[in-house]
Amino acid sequence: MGFKRIEVTDQNGHKTEFLKDLDTGKLYKRTGLVPRDFPGCQIVEEEVAQEPKTVIYSGDGYADGYMVYDMAECPNCGYEYEDGDKDWGLPFCPNCGQSLNWESEV
Ligand SMILES: [Zn+2]
Repeated sequence: MGFKRIEVTDQNGHKTEFLKDLDTGKLYKRTGLVPRDFPGCQIVEEEVAQEPKTVIYSGDGYADGYMVYDMAECPNCGYEYEDGDKDWGLPFCPNCGQSLNWESEV
């Protein structure tokens, strides 16, 4: 269980960060799943915080008199999620790598 932060440096010195799902070995970045091979690149792997934190929900409107919680925020870095986004419900923050818990406490 968990993720590793992967830093890839290409021949031009450009750095790109990915997250590696330790269960499947798949690499992710904010744009989604990425290929595993980075020819000619230097790769640094780093453990990511494992303890899940609950996302901070917020709403920006009412429906039928009830607040609609269609926004959420990473409790670690403040990265914002919107319901319907590809990021919504991810098991980790694509920005800082924090493990996320999407269970509402309400
Ligand atoms: Zn974050």
